Amino acid sequence: MTRTVYVNGEYLPETEAKVSIFDRGFLMADGVYEVTSVLGGKLIDFEGHSKRLERSLSELQIRKPMENEALLEIHRELVARNGIEDGLIYMQITRGAPGDRDFAFPSDETEPTVVLFTQSKPGLADSPAAKTGIKVISIPDIRWGRRDIKTVQLLYPSMGKMMAKAAGADDAWMVEEGAVTEGTSNNAYIVKGSTIITRQLGKEILHGITRAAVLRFAREAQMKVEERAFTIEEAQAADEAFVTSASTFVMPVVEIDGASVGQGTPGPVATRLREIYLEESRKAGL
Ligand code: PLP
Repeated sequence: MTRTVYVNGEYLPETEAKVSIFDRGFLMADGVYEVTSVLGGKLIDFEGHSKRLERSLSELQIRKPMENEALLEIHRELVARNGIEDGLIYMQITRGAPGDRDFAFPSDETEPTVVLFTQSKPGLADSPAAKTGIKVISIPDIRWGRRDIKTVQLLYPSMGKMMAKAAGADDAWMVEEGAVTEGTSNNAYIVKGSTIITRQLGKEILHGITRAAVLRFAREAQMKVEERAFTIEEAQAADEAFVTSASTFVMPVVEIDGASVGQGTPGPVATRLREIYLEESRKAGL
């Protein structure tokens, strides 16, 4: 089926959607994005994603192209037009296409480029991987220093996924100065006893919207949370490990660099947090 996508004010069939070859997103990875999941036709945590988008744009001095209400309207329209029950909505915003290539930022006359598209993922919340857990390998974190901004520079995360695949694993955890920063497209956690441990916020990691919600639900459920760095060795010796993201929610990790974590099966804390996250997020969906 041909999707309907949104490009700079228009709803178009994907085959007719166009962006300039001078777009700075294409030439310089000068753009940011957000991914919002859709469950049962409802947007999950739209407010969190739109707040982070605002921050990413402001950190890079890219003009915010429209108010959150208008962005919400486009999200809803795309869900309706594409009949999305479960899936994802990608929102890509770049500094625009000034009409030529130049390192300097263009003047304010250049409009940001705004593109939104959907991916239909029937049964997104019932992923078989959530029942078995995933395997990760560790790789060095050689990304730039502002990982708190959700930019479209996804080459290294993409290479990381390929390295994982080549090693017979599902994903990679990135390590810097001996400590895990995060997964290629998710935040990383371990559980020791009854304590959930995840790296503290900073410029080294993306401030996951799912992370914020999961930690809030964990604290509300009286679970202990420690926000601090941990090593691969500590993770391998932990009782459980898991990752969170808007597209995978809470996903158990059962193997790290070939070593089983805990019993080598999804643990009770990750399983419970996944249930709570899905239940609460569905209730609050827009
Ligand atoms: N960390 C990185 C590097 C990511 O790319 C993502 C999501 O794409 C996350 C963490 C998780 O963020 P969120 O929960 O907002 O999807």
